[in-house]
Amino acid sequence: MRSKILASAPAAVAVLVLAMVFLAVPTTRVENANAYFQPTNIRASGLIGTKTLALTFDDGPSTFTAELLDVLAENNVKATFFVLGTRARNHSALLARMAREGHVIANHSYNHAQLGRRYAASPELLTEQIAGTDALITVHAGNNQGYYFRAPYGVWRRVHADVLNADPVLKKYVGPVYWDIGGETAFDDEGQVRASADWDCWSRDWTPDECGLGYMREIARKRGGIVLMHDIRERTVRMVRNVLPVLRAEGYKFVTLDEVRSLDQFKTPSGEDVPVADAGTPSSNVLMAR
Ligand SMILES: [Zn+2]
Repeated sequence: MRSKILASAPAAVAVLVLAMVFLAVPTTRVENANAYFQPTNIRASGLIGTKTLALTFDDGPSTFTAELLDVLAENNVKATFFVLGTRARNHSALLARMAREGHVIANHSYNHAQLGRRYAASPELLTEQIAGTDALITVHAGNNQGYYFRAPYGVWRRVHADVLNADPVLKKYVGPVYWDIGGETAFDDEGQVRASADWDCWSRDWTPDECGLGYMREIARKRGGIVLMHDIRERTVRMVRNVLPVLRAEGYKFVTLDEVRSLDQFKTPSGEDVPVADAGTPSSNVLMAR
């Protein structure tokens, strides 16, 4: 009897360990078999009108990212970083910190290539762009987050999805993920800014306050969405520092892309013979944010 109990002890431990592993895995984890690059940019975030913002920072990390991470921590905000391989390679400690502090590290290609005709003609070049950055992200993120891709300049071709979904590693990505807010600088009839894009603000030599006003006005109109910014200029960090407390006070919630429920439909097919959802035809009932 005693020896029987001893013999079964390792099995019991194994079951317990397995149970703990399952409990520890966040429910938002992307199953590798069930994520998909889409033929077109995923434009419907489902966050508009929900008073929920998903901040996304592209093109970094840079020497200003550490300060940005400080600002996010001070405001208890988690964000998503669409990193470039060329920069991630030199900022390994920043990627480790992002993962440690609960941010999602996402893929924005290796060197910000415009993924146009040249890449449609050369599947191996396309794969290199995504795989090179994926390797750097995976080291830090592991299975603790979902995997998301955003195309540089939003340039994407239908054939790219076929190539990347056939790759056993890269098919874990959902994307390309577009944005709702921060795509362009725009003015009303009186010449007042009604929307800002940070890179454009800085090329116009605006202050962080001037640029932030455009972001705040677009956010006020849309009442939520995926927000595009770039963590490669100090002025963006100063702008974020200014606007976060205001948005918090106005009752906005902040989420990472892992918490954007509309993206779930691109992770899990609804049935074996049912094709995965197409970004061009989102159904409104699954687009509500948590
Ligand atoms: Zn970019």
